[in-house]
Amino acid sequence: MRIILLGAPGSGKGTQAVVISQRLKIPHISTGDIFRSNIKNGTELGKKAKEYMDKGLLVPDELTIDIVKDRLQQEDCKNGFILDGFPRTIPQAEYLDNALKEMGIKLDIALNIHVPDEEIIKRMSGRRVCPKCGMTYHTENNPPKKGNLCDGCGSEVVQRDDDKEETVIKRLKTYHDQTEPLIDYYTKQGIVVKVDGTAGIEATTQDVFNALGVK
Ligand code: AMP
Repeated sequence: MRIILLGAPGSGKGTQAVVISQRLKIPHISTGDIFRSNIKNGTELGKKAKEYMDKGLLVPDELTIDIVKDRLQQEDCKNGFILDGFPRTIPQAEYLDNALKEMGIKLDIALNIHVPDEEIIKRMSGRRVCPKCGMTYHTENNPPKKGNLCDGCGSEVVQRDDDKEETVIKRLKTYHDQTEPLIDYYTKQGIVVKVDGTAGIEATTQDVFNALGVK
């Protein structure tokens, strides 16, 4: 199955993507994670991306598109993938459509995980992420089982710089201006399914699997 996730930052895309990826045995491709790993490794791409990310802005399309192109061509994407955080602009969506067309495949579903802005701002302040395996947590709603150590790999979980409140407000504006138009774009293709992202992690996961037709 070929899936894209369209929710706002903080809507729970990453959390749901990890579960979907494990259950359907398809790779989870997060452009945000790819940028963060480049930042950690001090690459040229990482240095450029960080300037935009720290300001709550999108990394320019020309830097983003290439990394996705390379990733989709890898062997493990043959039976499907879940794209988390890509596309985020109309040009990225058009690029993806063309790339998939060349590969002779199509998207099956665009999941729109909907959460109101006020709820997102509340959530983000408590958000923590495992820098190693990408699992996400929340200090109140979904803390790691042991202190601040990741349940999956035992690494210490951290707050991302871009989860700070003033950056979150900018990221939401960026989302409404540049990414929300994708809901219309994919509605025209007939593949959007809206899921309530405020129902709690497990209930949302259940809705997601219902939307995907997975028992
Ligand atoms: P995320 O972890 O998906 O919330 O992404 C974190 C940040 O990485 C975003 O706020 C953007 O600055 C950048 N980013 C991730 N994916 C994209 C994308 N598809 N296009 C442009 N910038 C992106």
